[in-house]
Amino acid sequence: MSEVHLKTPLHSGQIRSVDVAVIGGGIAGKACALGLAQLGFQTVEIAPDLGESVSSPQGSQWGQRIYAFSPSTQKLLAHLQIWDALDHIRLQPVRDMRIYGDRGEKNDQLHLSAFEAGTPQLAWIGESNLIEHTLDQASRFQNKLERITNVVEKIEVDEAGATLHLKHGTPIHAQLVIAADGANSPIRSEIGITASEESYSQSAVVANWICHYPHLETAFQWFLPGGDIVAMLPLPGKQVSMVWSTSPENAAELLKLDQSQWTEKFSSIANGAIRKQLGELTLNSTPVSFPLRKIRANRFIGPESSPKVVLIGDAAHVMHPLAGQGLNLGLRDVAVLLNILGKRESFRTPSDPVLLRRYERQRQGDTGALLWVTDKLKKLFSASSKPERQLRNWGLGLVNKSHFIKQRLIERALGDIDFE
Ligand SMILES: Cc1cc2nc3c(=O)[nH]c(=O)nc-3n(C[C@H](O)[C@H](O)[C@H](O)COP(=O)(O)OP(=O)(O)OC[C@H]3O[C@@H](n4cnc5c(N)ncnc54)[C@H](O)[C@@H]3O)c2cc1C
Repeated sequence: MSEVHLKTPLHSGQIRSVDVAVIGGGIAGKACALGLAQLGFQTVEIAPDLGESVSSPQGSQWGQRIYAFSPSTQKLLAHLQIWDALDHIRLQPVRDMRIYGDRGEKNDQLHLSAFEAGTPQLAWIGESNLIEHTLDQASRFQNKLERITNVVEKIEVDEAGATLHLKHGTPIHAQLVIAADGANSPIRSEIGITASEESYSQSAVVANWICHYPHLETAFQWFLPGGDIVAMLPLPGKQVSMVWSTSPENAAELLKLDQSQWTEKFSSIANGAIRKQLGELTLNSTPVSFPLRKIRANRFIGPESSPKVVLIGDAAHVMHPLAGQGLNLGLRDVAVLLNILGKRESFRTPSDPVLLRRYERQRQGDTGALLWVTDKLKKLFSASSKPERQLRNWGLGLVNKSHFIKQRLIERALGDIDFE
């Protein structure tokens, strides 16, 4: 799937025509398809995993995929009329973030506080299926949106848009195609957009825990000697969600631990600080692991000669989860695209190159900056020489004393989008 085909559209009897096709059934694809249909575009969403709507999470067993949602994500979900429909009992606001250097000393701490920043919360922590379920429900009532359970096998770009050839059934022609098909994005490669990719040689082990002490609505993160990072994100009640980034070998070992071995682990790492902070931790889910990498598509629209495809979400960028921002960034892609298409001049089609370039320009700054900062932080905290370790621990303490820098960090974490 590497050649770009530029040809005239098939005869209209052989294909179906729509305004926009969104490829991908992750949160970015679902939110984008719903938003486009709400703007009045005849929209199809195509993905192999759209068959059954995601069931609503229930009870005390929490989903395995837990995310930190930034205020920019909240604004987008409110704009899509999803936010108020979420079961808020399953969302935990984060009022404080505490980030510790690898000596586990109090002075090496960076503390970000919603109170000091004059905002009600810094983020919310919640389950992926909570958002997906509510997006599925809203999509069912949106008559401009059709969901198709299928796989896109080939894309042919023409003057008026692109034709999508599906594994089963009639091809679909769309004026604009949104590729939300994830980190390995087949559409990205097929339209000839290259991507810079780097493995972090790390995996993230995620698991949910019941903690003995209250988490105080605080997200904790410990940078450990050797480059491991342990984040404990607060969940409603006395629960936390762990994201432990480590070598793939250690991740495989962690997945084998039983409860008593975990207890020993938490007592020994970070000089016992995790245990001291949260008390005894009881496993409340089966730990799973995810490989970590950084990807940045070199263009966000394509193909070069006649752009008709827009990349959003992980298809455009993938980052280390240490800042908890990957999906938030993808949803800012959605927000910007909806803003641009919603305000377009009446004579422009949805794939007018002026609009697509506007999108690409607006997304490059935010994406580039966040990928850069996350990557540099990851590398700084993996460095093992003594001067580098002293420098970063000292740096955390120093940043902590600067109200100005902390305010800028918080602004970046909150993200900024507006709908008109
Ligand atoms: C451990 C970990 C923790 C994280 N924590 C956070 C966090 O706290 N906050 C945050 O914001 N982000 C976080 N992230 C990042 C977040 O998980 C991703 O950014 C997000 O899930 C990407 O969503 P997406 O919709 O872009 O892609 P995906 O969820 O990967 O969806 C891709 C979709 O495309 C479909 N597809 C693929 N190929 C085709 C095809 N040929 N035809 C049709 N459909 C196709 C797939 O079936 C799927 O439906 C974390 C990531 C990891 C690994």
